[in-house]
Amino acid sequence: MADEPDDNWLHAEVFPCPSCQQALFRVDHSPFGDDYLLYCDQCANCVEVSYYDSGTLAFADRIREEGTLQPGWPQTKALLRLIEGRLKPCSCGGRYRYDAARRCPFCLAPVLIDMPWIELWPGYFWVKDDEDPTAEQTEQADAYMSAHKRESDLWQVDESAQ
Ligand SMILES: [Zn+2]
Ligand SMILES: [Zn+2]
Repeated sequence: MADEPDDNWLHAEVFPCPSCQQALFRVDHSPFGDDYLLYCDQCANCVEVSYYDSGTLAFADRIREEGTLQPGWPQTKALLRLIEGRLKPCSCGGRYRYDAARRCPFCLAPVLIDMPWIELWPGYFWVKDDEDPTAEQTEQADAYMSAHKRESDLWQVDESAQ
């Protein structure tokens, strides 16, 4: 891997699942995005939480007001812990956690452990830098996202706040 071209700075790579051999695509979560991606601790589903979601902003305010943590990763980690504590559970019954193992979408084997900065997707998500996805790839990826990535209706209802 030492010879990776510089333009692959998010370390995008296709590799076979060590368990079922299906093609998988891994990529670093872009630092230029505006969302956190938390994965289920029991399956390959994930949830996308925007930096600008009202829940995220409220947690971030709380952390800043407490003022006990250094800016940067200590604050981010505390924020992610607050977020994961309030997210609705996955449809499989698992919990979304920022540091959950990234599981193979096909066989659900844990593939990437303790690598919370990495996203793991089916191999058909991979597109060469200078190419566009084919219509079939776009269709497959869209279908996967709508089945496995939650982007709305994120939070548990706080009964005590009603
Ligand atoms: Zn697999
Ligand atoms: Zn799940």
